[in-house]
Amino acid sequence: MPAGTLMRRAARLQCPICAQRGLFHNWVQMVPECPRCGLVFGRLPGHWLGSWFLNICLVQLVVVLLLIISVAVTWPDPPMWIIGGATAASAIIVPFLFFPYSRTLWTAIDLAMRPLDYDEGVAPGFVLGGDQAQLESERKAQENGE
Ligand SMILES: [Zn+2]
Repeated sequence: MPAGTLMRRAARLQCPICAQRGLFHNWVQMVPECPRCGLVFGRLPGHWLGSWFLNICLVQLVVVLLLIISVAVTWPDPPMWIIGGATAASAIIVPFLFFPYSRTLWTAIDLAMRPLDYDEGVAPGFVLGGDQAQLESERKAQENGE
């Protein structure tokens, strides 16, 4: 499956594999596995470190841009208490707003980098043809190499 499709579905908070919606109990609680295709979202221990990383990158970008733009717009007399308060507030609000997107987007990125394996329990109808071919070629290469 093309990475673009995985990312597009994830950006809509859908399962990257089957486009199922409703993957969250609430804004900050994700279901452990997709109710439709059975993909277990925490694929490895520490899987969600990647979504934290995405969230941290976005927050840093927002804080730096907000700081630079607001100082530039109000130069030569920037109201630093207001700007500081706004950047501090954005550092709290942005990761909360982006949280579910960071989860689905990281799942899509992980699937693009590390395709589904046979034993991951995804329903057979959703096994990805391209991924399967890639897995088989990687396994043959491994067998030949070892
Ligand atoms: Zn699914």
